[in-house]
Amino acid sequence: MSLSAFLSRRVVTPDGIKPAAVLVEDGRILDVVPPNQLPAGISVKDFGEAAILPGLVDSHVHINEPGRTEWEGFRTATRAAAAGGYTLLADMPLNCLPATTTVTALEAKRKAASGQCHVDWMAWGGVVSDNQEHIEGLAAAGVLGFKCFLIHPGIDGFTMVNEKELRAALPHVARTGLPLLVHAELPGPVDAATHRLAEADWSKYATYLQSRPDEAELSAIRLMISLCREYRFRLHIVHLAASQALDMLRAAKAEGLPVSVETCPHYLHFSSEKIPDGQALFKCAPPIRSRENREKLWQGLREGVIDLVATDHSPCPPEMKRLSERNFRTAWGGIASLSLALPVMWTEAIDRGFTLADIARWMAERLARLAGCESRKGRIAKDYNADFVVFEPEAEFVATEEHLYYRHCVSPYLGETLRGVVKATYLRGDCVFADGTFPGAPGGREFRR
Ligand SMILES: [Zn+2]
Repeated sequence: MSLSAFLSRRVVTPDGIKPAAVLVEDGRILDVVPPNQLPAGISVKDFGEAAILPGLVDSHVHINEPGRTEWEGFRTATRAAAAGGYTLLADMPLNCLPATTTVTALEAKRKAASGQCHVDWMAWGGVVSDNQEHIEGLAAAGVLGFKCFLIHPGIDGFTMVNEKELRAALPHVARTGLPLLVHAELPGPVDAATHRLAEADWSKYATYLQSRPDEAELSAIRLMISLCREYRFRLHIVHLAASQALDMLRAAKAEGLPVSVETCPHYLHFSSEKIPDGQALFKCAPPIRSRENREKLWQGLREGVIDLVATDHSPCPPEMKRLSERNFRTAWGGIASLSLALPVMWTEAIDRGFTLADIARWMAERLARLAGCESRKGRIAKDYNADFVVFEPEAEFVATEEHLYYRHCVSPYLGETLRGVVKATYLRGDCVFADGTFPGAPGGREFRR
């Protein structure tokens, strides 16, 4: 294949944002050179003032296929991803049927994904109450690592694990060298609070927030840090919502424990004070907390205690949100945001003095590291995959259903004015999204570690 170049005044590289030409051959980056060193006679795509960032990596997506394709699916999730500037998704092992807790289930997922994907994907395996003997087999078969829940995940078929079951699983996890992603809420504080609130008004967001107190996250994280110290496995806390946990996470990192931390755009954008009662589109677990809490999460990101921002894209059919019932107790929890996460994050980040280089670290580079593909994904640098998002950081738009692209056009972000527009997305040098269209046949594939 012939050599081509992507040119911009603002290329976001690991050593800064600069005018550059990214030379691409056979889907990979041959080199990144100053514009005046552009070889003559090659095809050049000049994006002018639009920025070129590395294709984003999302390490936390619920694609729900096979088995619950009516909720989402590979075709629709990867379409939303391409529109949002993502070029690699890592699929969570639950909500699909079968759950990805055995090699057989992983093979079923690979079959389901085949030929449908607009961007690349990878799979997490599950650690559940009774699949310890499958953990190393899943690792050998190519999962990136494992996900477990310390509390009921909201759906049957993917069992939560208690401390005893964790202790049975952790020696296996540690032997694989792969990370264990933990939904860190313990049931005790949630059950106690929910019991106290039995007669409360569940149309109020405040009721839901009180039912999932900070202590549920804090006690879970405390437990996981102590198990990490004991078993020395790579611990990753998904979707941190409680900023109070930052002190112990900072200390765990300072101690040298292999701990990483994620939060999500919705925790960095919304605040509980502004969530309307009855509006279950905002329901997720752990819950969106106060404005003060949100600012502390931003501080955690600034300091590096929080490593990365993943979407936790978790869609469902609109009827499961039971919007007419206005009930935070019975509605399905989960916020879908693949197609809007970049502008949401940029809108918030620019007000706090961050740059596109920070965005690239939080939304590409560090997620590639978590997923074990940091030598080929998540950076604009020599020998990396030619995965790019072309982004107009100064443009603004009002989020509407036509910006969503996933299966069900439901979102708490609709109507918001957001900063930054994804103009185009390239996967291994090929355009997979441009100005609202998805050119070419789906060329995404499973990316192997
Ligand atoms: Zn999730």
